[in-house]
Amino acid sequence: MSGNEVLVILPPISDDDVSTSLRALTRAIANATRQVLWGGLGGDDGYGLAHETDVFVMRPFYWGDCDCGHMDRINNRWYDLDLDNHPGGCDCEQCAAYSEWVNKQGRCLPTCSTELPNFLYKPTGARVEWYKWIGRDMEIKGDLPADFLTHCLQSLEGA
Ligand SMILES: [Zn+2]
Ligand SMILES: [Zn+2]
Repeated sequence: MSGNEVLVILPPISDDDVSTSLRALTRAIANATRQVLWGGLGGDDGYGLAHETDVFVMRPFYWGDCDCGHMDRINNRWYDLDLDNHPGGCDCEQCAAYSEWVNKQGRCLPTCSTELPNFLYKPTGARVEWYKWIGRDMEIKGDLPADFLTHCLQSLEGA
């Protein structure tokens, strides 16, 4: 570090704290909206519930396929090949051209259900993603302040 820069390190919010907060928020959403908690291996409040306020968006894990058209485009091009003559792993010119084309197609749109975060904290844009239930293979991207739950709960009041 150079000059008079001061590096402020805030205590990071732990994955456990985030999980605990998101489960508490799930229960609060259930109470506020009368949605039924899912129940299952992840625990009654472990799956989240679909709900949006001015402060946050929560979406349970999405079990479905791409719905932005990206995979359709890729699959349609694939079905254009005569599949009987091009089994998986075929390395002919046509298949090589297809692979090259696929690599240039990028990925799903940010609005695709497969891409949307399971939790978005609007004030900072922080995103949380989990697999099936809260805390499992959880990824936190961006700045999620330690008091995010308080603001989320406040935004639920009167819902
Ligand atoms: Zn998609
Ligand atoms: Zn081929």
